[in-house]
Amino acid sequence: TVEVHDVHKWYGTHRVLDGVDLTVRPGEVTVILGPSGSGKSTLLRVINHLEKPDIGYVSVNGELIGVKRQGERLRELSERAILAQRGRIGFVFQNFNLFPHLTVLDNVAAAPVATGRLGRTEAQELARELLGRVGLAARTGAYPRQLSGGQQQRVAIARALALRPGVILFDEPTSALDPELVGEVLAVIKDLATSGTTLLIVTHEIGFAREIADRVVFIDGGKIIEQGPPSEVLDKPRHERTRDFLSKVL
Ligand code: ATP
Ligand code: MG
Repeated sequence: TVEVHDVHKWYGTHRVLDGVDLTVRPGEVTVILGPSGSGKSTLLRVINHLEKPDIGYVSVNGELIGVKRQGERLRELSERAILAQRGRIGFVFQNFNLFPHLTVLDNVAAAPVATGRLGRTEAQELARELLGRVGLAARTGAYPRQLSGGQQQRVAIARALALRPGVILFDEPTSALDPELVGEVLAVIKDLATSGTTLLIVTHEIGFAREIADRVVFIDGGKIIEQGPPSEVLDKPRHERTRDFLSKVL
C-alpha cells in the first residue's frame, strides 16, 4: 500500500502540491490525470523521494519514505537508505533515461548487480527473462540508440521490473513516442496491470485509463479534485474543472 499523507510542496513561493492525500492498495492501478503544471510529476517524484515534501509524508507498506521518526519530528534518512528504498519503487520516465553506453541486457541487469541483490550471471538471466516479457528477447545485445522509442521504453520498463519493486510509477510513459509506437508500450503496461503489479500512471491516454485503471485521480492546482472508478470520473465527472479538462483531451 502506498500512502501519501497530507503532502504539501512549494518551489520558492509557488505552491505545487497543496495537501495531497492518496492511498493505493496492493495490485491497484491508479491513473493520474490533470492539466500541465498541476503537480502530477511532482507527486510521483515525492513518492520515491526524488523531491522532499515540505509538509506531510509518504509511506509504502507501512515504511516511511526518505525519513524516519524522531520523537515528534521526521528526520531525513541517509542517502544510502533512500537509495535502497528507491529500489523498491520502480520509476519509468517520459524520456526512457537508459544508459547509452550499456547494451539492452546490461541496462536491465545493472541495478540488481549494483545493489548487490544478484550476481552478474543471475542478473543477466533475470534480464533475459524480463526482456522476453516485454517482447525484446531478440534485441538483448543492442544499444539504446539502435532501438525505436517504443523499444527503448519497453527496455526501461524491464529495467524497472528488475528490482522486483512493490510499486511502479510511470510519468507520461508514451508522450515522447511517435503515435504508431504508443500501442506497444501500453500493451506492456496493460500486461503488468492485469498481472497484479501496483501501478501509478500519469498519462493523457484517456482510452487506456478507462481500460486499465481501477481508479482515476484528477489533480489540478496541486490538489486532488476528484477520484473514483473510470466509470465515474471519466464518464460522469462531478466537478466543473474535471469536465473542462476532459473536454480538452478527449
Ligand atoms: P506536465 O503535465 O506539464 O508534465 P505536471 O502536472 O507534471 O505538468 P509538475 O512538473 O509537477 O507538473 O510541475 C508543477 C509546477 O511546479 C509547475 O508550475 C512547474 O513549473 C513547477 N516546478 C516543477 N519542478 C520545479 C522545480 N524543480 N523548480 C521550480 N518549479 C518547478
Ligand atoms: Mg509532468
